[in-house]
Amino acid sequence: MNKINKVLVANRGEIAIRVFRACTELNIRTVAIYSREDSSSYHRYKADEAYLVGEGKKPIDAYLDIEGIIKIAKQSEVDAIHPGYGFLSENIQFAKRCEEEGIIFIGPKPEQLEIFGDKVKARMQAERSKIPVVPGRSIQLEEDIRQFASEVGYPIIIKAALGGGGRGMRIVTNESELIEAFSRAKSEAKSAFGSDEVYVEKFLANPKHIEVQILADNDGNLVHLYERDCSVQRRHQKVVEIAPSVSLSEQLRKEICDAAVKLMKDTNYVNAGTVEFLVANDKFYFIEVNPRIQVEHTITELITGIDIVQSQLFIADGYDLHSDVIGIPKQEDISTNGFAIQCRVTTEDPLNHFMPDTGKINVYRSGGGFGVRLDAGNGFQGSVISPYYDSLLVKVSTWAMTFEKAAAKMVRNLQEFRIRGIKTNIAFLENVMLHPKFINGEYDTSFIDTTPELFV
Ligand code: ADP
Repeated sequence: MNKINKVLVANRGEIAIRVFRACTELNIRTVAIYSREDSSSYHRYKADEAYLVGEGKKPIDAYLDIEGIIKIAKQSEVDAIHPGYGFLSENIQFAKRCEEEGIIFIGPKPEQLEIFGDKVKARMQAERSKIPVVPGRSIQLEEDIRQFASEVGYPIIIKAALGGGGRGMRIVTNESELIEAFSRAKSEAKSAFGSDEVYVEKFLANPKHIEVQILADNDGNLVHLYERDCSVQRRHQKVVEIAPSVSLSEQLRKEICDAAVKLMKDTNYVNAGTVEFLVANDKFYFIEVNPRIQVEHTITELITGIDIVQSQLFIADGYDLHSDVIGIPKQEDISTNGFAIQCRVTTEDPLNHFMPDTGKINVYRSGGGFGVRLDAGNGFQGSVISPYYDSLLVKVSTWAMTFEKAAAKMVRNLQEFRIRGIKTNIAFLENVMLHPKFINGEYDTSFIDTTPELFV
């Protein structure tokens, strides 16, 4: 490496461990931070050094303690910080503070976070780049929404400009719901994301969610690593992801990937990012960019053989994408091989409204074998799952030459799991894998919410 010999991960759980693994393979030393509540969390023990952060703060706020994290980074003399996903990963102030302190922020530049951290600005950029967006507009007054609805028809969706993670969205199916939905959307946006700015979009009927993985270096080289299909969602949150999509025509795949590349090139994007689209009736519409590593990057790694996290480290260290060190081929030579599926195993109880369960894991045995990848956070015997953080236990990814075989491998793997002491969604995920609509690629974003037989 040139400058990066020690990295702090400003995150927890599986993604912190994922980054530590990438670093260790490159002989980069690693630093973990952990909150008091995470004292026995696995990520703490997976780094070369670990420091308590956010003492006295609420559990979530510990990982948002910008000055506390910067202080640890300086004291432990790290060269760079990887923000993971969630927490500070899209925080412009944090990226700027890193820059000020001479610490490399492993991600895009503050200017790019400025555009893509705000979905209204991101939509405007997409329009400038001549990429189709879902019909929509910024709104200030109820009247603006009424006017919009009279033009495009119900249903419509009100979204928080700074929203994320499937939160801060409200569907409005008719005019009588409008006033309440608007005021609730604004107040939810304010309390969850610190700004009550909202915008409105036409709510597309049963679309697929297709997203394109991008990697870009500081010299203007930018490639896509094809798409992921993340349509299997519950309440707008991804549950199962597939790469590549089983239902896109070659023509549409090319158009979507080209659009993603154009958008990111137009903003001189750097590092890893994902451009998200909805696809309905063979048309695609931009919805947002995630300017960071995503939970589901694993499946793109499985089908391309490219280590996205290590690529992030090299890019941040100043390497050319196509240099021997990173070794990313030119776009025309990047291809995909086989199919990969990722299931998010969580500690949620599907038979009780997906309520997160907490407590001690008494028994933990996972699957394995050829074509299986496991990215676990606190999934191990003796682990105590607290109520303070997200409910992701382990990401199970399978790879095979065909989609059907990858799904069969996933079923076999899920069946091999034995987790006792805490409820999980494993049986539910098995039902998804075995459902004819899933196997035939006939699912869209409404699949889980409209398929009661998955809940048995
Ligand atoms: P977040 O940033 O919270 O993930 P997104 O804007 O990416 O929010 O949307 C998440 C999901 O919500 C999409 O994958 C899709 O299922 C649904 N969704 C968002 N906008 C629309 C829309 N205009 N029409 C239909 N579904 C939508």
